[in-house]
Amino acid sequence: MMEKEENVLFVVAIILLIADFFVVFFLNVIPKIRLEKGNIVLNLNDIYIEPGYHASKLYSDMTNKVIVNNNINTKRIGTYKVIYTIYYNGQAYQKVRYVSVLDQTPPTITLKGSNPAIVCPKKTYEEEGYESIDNYDGDLTKNVILKNNTNHILYSVRDHSGNFFSIKRNIQYEDNEEPVITLKGGNAYSLYIGETYQEPGYQAIDNCDGDITNKVTTTSNLDTNKIGSYEIIYEVKDSSSRTAKISRKVVVLGPKPSNGKIIYLTFDDGPSSSITPELLDILKEENVKATFFVLNRGSSLDYLIKREYEEGHTVALHGSSHNYKQIYSSVTAFFDDLSIIQNKVESITGEKPMIIRFPGGSSNTISRFNPGIMTILTKEVKARGYHYFDWNVGSGDSGEAHTADEVYHNVIKNLGNNNNIILMHDFGGNYKTLHAIRKIIQYGKNNGYTFEKITMNTLETHHRVAN
Ligand code: ZN
Repeated sequence: MMEKEENVLFVVAIILLIADFFVVFFLNVIPKIRLEKGNIVLNLNDIYIEPGYHASKLYSDMTNKVIVNNNINTKRIGTYKVIYTIYYNGQAYQKVRYVSVLDQTPPTITLKGSNPAIVCPKKTYEEEGYESIDNYDGDLTKNVILKNNTNHILYSVRDHSGNFFSIKRNIQYEDNEEPVITLKGGNAYSLYIGETYQEPGYQAIDNCDGDITNKVTTTSNLDTNKIGSYEIIYEVKDSSSRTAKISRKVVVLGPKPSNGKIIYLTFDDGPSSSITPELLDILKEENVKATFFVLNRGSSLDYLIKREYEEGHTVALHGSSHNYKQIYSSVTAFFDDLSIIQNKVESITGEKPMIIRFPGGSSNTISRFNPGIMTILTKEVKARGYHYFDWNVGSGDSGEAHTADEVYHNVIKNLGNNNNIILMHDFGGNYKTLHAIRKIIQYGKNNGYTFEKITMNTLETHHRVAN
């Protein structure tokens, strides 16, 4: 019995061994395909490289019988199949490899404008623009999300595959530019002495504050009564204390050349109570300004000097005494005499007159008792800042003319087309001039003349010195 059981066990073992052999045999009879690396993940636009495969049946290699097919497009996201097929006994044996093409590249954001952006204090940043491009989705600009923070703006975007990108634009709050001042009419200006400077205008613009023209301050050393070159300086400061400075050069030229017919009525040797008041009345009625070269006629007539001044005429100096022997005896004597009347007029009008007329004129011959004195004095008065005026139209009212008619005709026959400085007198009793003056004025007005008083800016008329 024991022996029989052993035999049965032996037979079973043999049967199992044979069965196993057949199992192995049948498995190996089917062609088998084996893939290297299995499934694969690729990025967009990667190149798919076949990782390799093997095929065999029993122990014979069939790799070269394998047909490989795939529809991989690495330009498109997707999962693709690579199919490995082998035909055997009219039967197809297949193996599949899965290839996934993924977009793993984030989009980009490009900021237009500046980064960091400089923004004026207290102003808000004005977006300068941006652009987002994704390698797969294309333009994603509309998907960009902006988040404003105090000192920066965060731009972020996500593509359809979930890839994320963000970029910061930093904001710096500061005014980094000076204002700009622009001078209208250019930065050079010229005028004739005595004319009024007319500011041509200016504008100040600041990048942050805008128009700050009303904050411009000007400083100037301009003296329109003195020939020379001057400067007007324009300065402005913006709210960040940045300053701008610009200057305009102003040139004060000499006296304006006369290009019209001008009459300067001048009256020497006054004032007098018999002539001056009525003369002033006529001038007032005719609205004409004249020039009075006054003498020191005593304090009782000071009111006439005052009236001349207050009515807008020029009070100029003739001398104190009109005594030729005395005033032309020496330079000192001349200026001593002149200073008496100068001080007197200044005390009456408050202004120190610097316009003079030599008694007898600078061409007088009566001073020849002191040869050369007029040559010296004409230079000396200039050196001391005086302007002296002779005349170029005589009225003859202190000489050959005996009637108002003669005075009138003497004047009008000598009138020229430029500056006419007419010599007349308002000494006591000179009625012929008083009675001629209205006619002279009317003649002038009817013939295109304007009447002006002498000022420090009037072109000087000088005689030739004759001593
Ligand atoms: Zn005189």
